Amino acid sequence: MTNKIFSNNKWFFEDDVPYDPGTTQIGLKIKKKLYSGKSSYQRIDFYDTYAFGKILVLDGILQTSEKDEFVYHEMLCHTPLFLHKNPKKVLIIGGGDGGALEETLKHKVEEVVMVEIDKKVVDLSKKYLPSISKNAFRDKRTKLIIGDGKAFIEKNTNAFDVIILDLSDPDGPAKELISLIFYKNVKKCLKKDGVISIQSGSFSVQPKLVSTIYNRIKKVFPFYEIHKAVVEAYQAGEYSFTIGAKENINKITKAQLEKRFKKNNLKLNYYSPDMHFASKVLPKYIKDIITS
Ligand code: SAM
Repeated sequence: MTNKIFSNNKWFFEDDVPYDPGTTQIGLKIKKKLYSGKSSYQRIDFYDTYAFGKILVLDGILQTSEKDEFVYHEMLCHTPLFLHKNPKKVLIIGGGDGGALEETLKHKVEEVVMVEIDKKVVDLSKKYLPSISKNAFRDKRTKLIIGDGKAFIEKNTNAFDVIILDLSDPDGPAKELISLIFYKNVKKCLKKDGVISIQSGSFSVQPKLVSTIYNRIKKVFPFYEIHKAVVEAYQAGEYSFTIGAKENINKITKAQLEKRFKKNNLKLNYYSPDMHFASKVLPKYIKDIITS
């Protein structure tokens, strides 16, 4: 995108985001540049900012912030985990900052396998963003595998109750992990009552990405729904979380969800049975986006 403003030592501006026309740019005032380097997969930057605290940036795109990671991670993880009647084995693909892992381990799960392609993201996030992962990487239920999520999915079948795709935007190492064949393989990797959750982009700046992912999930899974929430740090208006399931999640009542929520007794700041149902009420213009 021409006329693009580039980050400097005072302000952070996002680079081109896939599926985003890049016609809006919001700068974050930098308090301190914490780390800047490369791995064999991507550029990695950590900044401390005035507005969102410490942030992780991959290939110039903001991934998570201390201030509002809970909105994103609670919606991405608790939505599928409460839709499943009793999740025991969970798979997270990506999620290098450890936020999705930390939220998932709040449930009475037996094992959480996390497949992250870039060890450097995990090691540096432990150092610069410990408030996000807390003790999750040290939990004995955590099985961290450094590797390509696509290859892992192709090698496993009928293994997981819930699969959470906490991937960077579909470019670079995550490029092929929104394809129809990938979602078909993810479905094979789930047990018979399995549920999948995907961060599927922004309704306002990436409508084409949202409809692409949603319509591919619709093709692969008999039951599906989409939830929304504003993740301020993403500067992208309302963000979408697409859910696919092998069993009928659409018939789950609020009373049933409240019973599961009470039984787990989790202390959460965003997700709740009320927010679960409120976040899937869609205005017409969004229904038009996902049916386009
Ligand atoms: N919340 C962020 C977002 O919505 O953009 C995602 C955060 S998380 C840090 C994204 C992670 O996906 C990164 O650590 C990246 O290394 C990982 N990743 C990208 N492609 C991958 C692949 N093929 N297999 C496993 N992990 C991958």
